[in-house]
Amino acid sequence: MTLVPVRIPSGGDHFSSSYLQLYDACPRKWFNRYYRPKDEDEEERTGLDTHETPLPFITGSLFHEGLETYYRSGCKKGKDTGKYDVVKAMARVDKIKDEMPWYSDETKDQEVALVKKMLGQYAMEQCQDFPEIQVKCDSTGDPIIERQFAHKIGYSDHIFTCIPDMIIEHNGFLKVMEHKTSSPSFAAGRVRSIGMDAQITGELWTIMQEFPGDPIDGVMINVIKKGHKTGRMVIRDTAKRTEIQMERWRLATIDSLKRLDDAIDRFETFRDTGMEIEPAADIAFPLLGIRTNTCYAYFKECEFMDLCKAPPDRIPTLLNLFKKREAR
Ligand code: SF4
Repeated sequence: MTLVPVRIPSGGDHFSSSYLQLYDACPRKWFNRYYRPKDEDEEERTGLDTHETPLPFITGSLFHEGLETYYRSGCKKGKDTGKYDVVKAMARVDKIKDEMPWYSDETKDQEVALVKKMLGQYAMEQCQDFPEIQVKCDSTGDPIIERQFAHKIGYSDHIFTCIPDMIIEHNGFLKVMEHKTSSPSFAAGRVRSIGMDAQITGELWTIMQEFPGDPIDGVMINVIKKGHKTGRMVIRDTAKRTEIQMERWRLATIDSLKRLDDAIDRFETFRDTGMEIEPAADIAFPLLGIRTNTCYAYFKECEFMDLCKAPPDRIPTLLNLFKKREAR
């Protein structure tokens, strides 16, 4: 077993799956999210964020934090003991709830209560998993939970990064485990979607490059139904990829990076000639979402819809609806 801690700073030439997926879905959305300057004179290319974070994101982050504490609590001296502490997980939720950007106190109270109830239900149901499923610890005894992995993709200095929720041992094989929260009606669809999911392929590829000798056997997706009432709260499946599929993913990733590098070059060249932001963006970062009618994200309209529909002279005013994106 060669698993060792890998800690790599983000930023620079590092990129994640969602970063490129956004560019492939709609170049303009990528430009708005990661590159658009807030005004004509701004040198920085920080991109834009909405002032409000979608509620499912906030609730999902809180649940993830609780689950991380839950699984960590069972790991002692480099071994998963199966004795997880759900009270500790709930205490973690209470500790960080005030750091979240809630819309109102009422929303906060409702969602925190829901997250704690979910953690309690999860603990009841999941206690049947041990010892079949165990959290893997590295050679220093640290559980491999929320750890960043990174590997050069093979084009320029670009480094693909991913942060799997955790690495588990399942019936003697190593797997990545990813937790997703979902409404009960979408849960089965989320599990089915892993067959095509590029994030899953990227995670497997990265981890296999990092640990070529270890028996990594796919990504288990752990979908937890939010607000479920009857039956099982958790549904799971394991996605596997062949070497050919992973190589195809790597080459497609390089193609996307090259197109993105070209688009940035084109935008900057037009800007250097004195062209304003909007026409330069129109040429370099087309509005593919509108063309393919997929201007949606997270089951709601794309946050940049008003910008895309507006005439150029309205855009400076509409930009007030956004703040500069902070590096994460
Ligand atoms: S509204 Fe549509 S075209 Fe505009 S950025 Fe969003 S997805 Fe792209």
